[in-house]
Amino acid sequence: MKNSKIHMVDLMGQYLKIKNEIDKNIISSINSGRFVNGPIVMEFSENLSRYLDVKNVIPCANGTDALQIAFMALDLKPGDEIICPSWTYIATAEAAAILGIKVVFCDVDLETFNTTADLIELHINDKTKAIVPVHLYGQSCDMDEIIKLAEKYKLKIIEDNAQAIGCKYTFPNGDNKFTGTLGNIGTTSFYPSKNLGCYGDGGAIFTNDSSLAEKIRMIVNHGEKIKYNHEIVGCNSRLDSIQAEILNVKLKHLDIYNSNRKIMAMNYNLAFAEIEELLTPKVITNSGHVFHQYTLRVLNGKRDDLKSYLNDLGIPSMIYYPIPIHKQKPYRNEQVLENTDILSKEVISLPIHTELESSNQDFIIEKIIKYFK
Ligand SMILES: *Cc1c(COP(=O)(O)O)cnc(C)c1O
Repeated sequence: MKNSKIHMVDLMGQYLKIKNEIDKNIISSINSGRFVNGPIVMEFSENLSRYLDVKNVIPCANGTDALQIAFMALDLKPGDEIICPSWTYIATAEAAAILGIKVVFCDVDLETFNTTADLIELHINDKTKAIVPVHLYGQSCDMDEIIKLAEKYKLKIIEDNAQAIGCKYTFPNGDNKFTGTLGNIGTTSFYPSKNLGCYGDGGAIFTNDSSLAEKIRMIVNHGEKIKYNHEIVGCNSRLDSIQAEILNVKLKHLDIYNSNRKIMAMNYNLAFAEIEELLTPKVITNSGHVFHQYTLRVLNGKRDDLKSYLNDLGIPSMIYYPIPIHKQKPYRNEQVLENTDILSKEVISLPIHTELESSNQDFIIEKIIKYFK
């Protein structure tokens, strides 16, 4: 029997639970006549900055722009190099490449899917200007080590936090802070399926550095501080008021959304613990995890077969990512990234979202256990 009720993400189900408030706020925003960068955009950026405990949150049009603007704000130029993992969404590398910055790829750890200070250090040279850790699938990188590395080589850190909003990292001394606020600049995306998503495109840039923040505020708005007075080269990357209304409502639910994801992840972990050919995601004690994705490794070449078995049962699954960036045409190079290559053949992500019913999760679990029996 094929199950047709299970979705990879269920934005409609989530919307229906907050529909009254969302609809009312969207209509009031339209009535205000302030469609771009209205007062509600400012209100949202203040709310998010309070939530994240970061001095500045600058909203922008999407998470890819957020990265590009971060590189521009740090004055990275053609000839400069950044280091980022190949095991990430294309945007991380693309935002640098479009500025003519050379993107050097590092490998990731097989158990956490994240890059580490040791793997980054292999690629540092005189031209390296910044490192871009990605908190992949919702889990923080080991930022203590990465910050020490950046200090040692005087490099900037831009955290790609598109998948980990609401995740907290704990330093060895016990201090904890939200990911995206640990480096010089953090970026995020409010693409609908992200943990904090709007109903279109959106993004934001975080920094505790006030002079960087001032520059970023100019870049997102054509390089101007005073209207029609363009001091630097910028772009047009602003957040719509309607999206800010939605984000303002959903921000209040973010912690609940994230803790529900975590509970579902723990259910999966427990259920699959004894399956030898299935490796559950490793959660590092110091690194919070908000499970943007629940990603497993399937051993012995069985990944694609498992995927089609699940598909036949009506259980959706995804491969993040089928082709690593260093093997994509515009970025292709001779680098060997052993772990990244292994992961592209082994990973599979299962449904994990705020509306997944436990009966549906039980169905997924039961069928996967059966497959490996
Ligand atoms: C989604 C995502 C982005 C890009 O965000 P957009 O809003 O789609 O431009 C960048 N990096 C990572 C890791 C992402 O998952």
